Amino acid sequence: MGLEAALPAEGFITTRLQKVINWARRSSVWPMPFATACCGIELMATASSRYDLARFGAEVMRFSPRQADLMLVAGRVSVKMMPVLQRIYQQMAEPKWVVSMGACASTGGVFDTYATVQGIDQYIPVDVYVPGCPPRPETLIEGIMAIQRIIDEDGIPPTGPDGLRQPLGVVVEPTYTPLPQPVPLTVGAN
Ligand code: SF4
Repeated sequence: MGLEAALPAEGFITTRLQKVINWARRSSVWPMPFATACCGIELMATASSRYDLARFGAEVMRFSPRQADLMLVAGRVSVKMMPVLQRIYQQMAEPKWVVSMGACASTGGVFDTYATVQGIDQYIPVDVYVPGCPPRPETLIEGIMAIQRIIDEDGIPPTGPDGLRQPLGVVVEPTYTPLPQPVPLTVGAN
């Protein structure tokens, strides 16, 4: 990892164990993608080469809660699907965090219908809300970095006096400036 080059031979460093654990944990966040709609495509783009989520150590996505510690809900969730989401959340290892990606996951978005959950935070604790319809990959990365900062500072998520997990409810802001539309065409120009 380059550390050995920075240290003299037979050298040693001192630190707190909690700091090392937090550093390891924040550098290897393991997402559990719960992508149900168009936001899922942006999630795929975030993991792909242009945005390269691997830079944050968070590119390992398997559709299993076994090792996952970051639930990424991307897209609308129907009432019928909610028990599945809850079960997967409960099966994930502790400590775990939740990102609500996009307007649909956070509020139901434009789907103001009886069949769509009007915000997943009614059923599971949401730590970071990523706004947009869909959020751009930069904004999702901002949300994942917010989780990393939370891990750096606190290590484990807070619980209330009743022992239940407390949602952190952090909201990230878009970090990009939209281009004016329409953008000039460049492909195939003479
Ligand atoms: S927030 Fe927009 S982009 Fe995301 S799932 Fe809903 S409609 Fe699709």
